[in-house]
Amino acid sequence: MSLAGATQDEVRRHNLAALVRFLHEHGSTSRSELVSHTGLNRSTVGGLISDLVAVGLVRETEPVASGVGRPSYGVEPVSERAFVLAIDLRVDRAIVAIVGLGGAVLARREHRFRKGQQREERIVAQTVEVCREVLGSAPEGGLLVGVGVGVPGLVRQPDGLVRFAPNLGWVDVPLGDHVAESLGVDVPIVVGNDSDLGAVAERVRGSAMGAANVIYLSGQVGVGGGILLDGRLLMGAQGYGGEVGHMRVNPKGRACRCGSVGCWETEIGEPALREAAGVGDSVPVAEIVARASGGDKAARRGLRGVGRWLGIGVANLVNIFNPDVVVFGGSLREILPATRDLVEDAVGGALTAPGEHVLLALPALGDDSTLLGAAEAAFTALLDDPLGAVSGHAARSRTAAGA
Ligand SMILES: [Zn+2]
Repeated sequence: MSLAGATQDEVRRHNLAALVRFLHEHGSTSRSELVSHTGLNRSTVGGLISDLVAVGLVRETEPVASGVGRPSYGVEPVSERAFVLAIDLRVDRAIVAIVGLGGAVLARREHRFRKGQQREERIVAQTVEVCREVLGSAPEGGLLVGVGVGVPGLVRQPDGLVRFAPNLGWVDVPLGDHVAESLGVDVPIVVGNDSDLGAVAERVRGSAMGAANVIYLSGQVGVGGGILLDGRLLMGAQGYGGEVGHMRVNPKGRACRCGSVGCWETEIGEPALREAAGVGDSVPVAEIVARASGGDKAARRGLRGVGRWLGIGVANLVNIFNPDVVVFGGSLREILPATRDLVEDAVGGALTAPGEHVLLALPALGDDSTLLGAAEAAFTALLDDPLGAVSGHAARSRTAAGA
């Protein structure tokens, strides 16, 4: 943001936001590092830290020796003071967590949906139930400052309407409203595409840390993609960009849940792998990989087939987007190590210039990339205006108490 012509309050808000975001993303930091990171002078940084300590968002820690000069007091975010509710809503389960400022997971629960229970109301009701349980173990005296939800589908921005989630069978579901009403919370709710959120989390805290151009692929029943270009999510005009799972790669292929034929996810999604490996739909992908490495011919053939299609799609994405890193999330975490030779071969067949430096990585956040990305999205309001978010919270609590 340009600070030319900004009022003193705006400048202060901007500086507080920069400081809290840095602490949120980097954890305990010495005062001298904060001074050099923000470019502000020592006394200004000291004043900002005092403001944040006063509302409990950060605390000072013991002096950290920093080479030469006086030891500098450290500052760290207080994860129990401000936290968010993060929800990773999948086709077969909901994963819900409380994540504190600084990214610490304070509580986490997973709930599997029973098969054939995918009616929207039931999924939402069960997810909200899990949210309530998790919130029951929220830190005392802490403030819930946001809710973030990741969902495998096309999510309209900025309002978060789930326009189409083919593998959930959802069309035009105002998921954020449903969750807010059922939970009875009055904080910002952000709904995002699961892979977009995965990309964000892997960039902030995972294997794409510091990279500006990132593609996060998420393999589940379907396959999603989150694309960061120059550090920003590729949203498209309404927020639907990045649906790489529905690239048509095989016109002679299978019907896709989206209504098309031969989409990439029909070749590399979990159902495709199970079918090719000749196993039932309850067999986990990890089990197929284990069987293949144990010499099971059908499992091996299935995996190799998926690996070839995976490579074809990734090579196309590398040509189009020139990413620094491609992160293989969801069940692709299991598939990449078993088919890396095929994927690397295919990427080797991409154009030399974009292909020669791209890193093919596994998510450092394991299975939690989307969950932690939902948390990052939920923290947006607090990170943009830390004191405003805390005082707004206090004002809402007073109104509620007076009502
Ligand atoms: Zn499709």
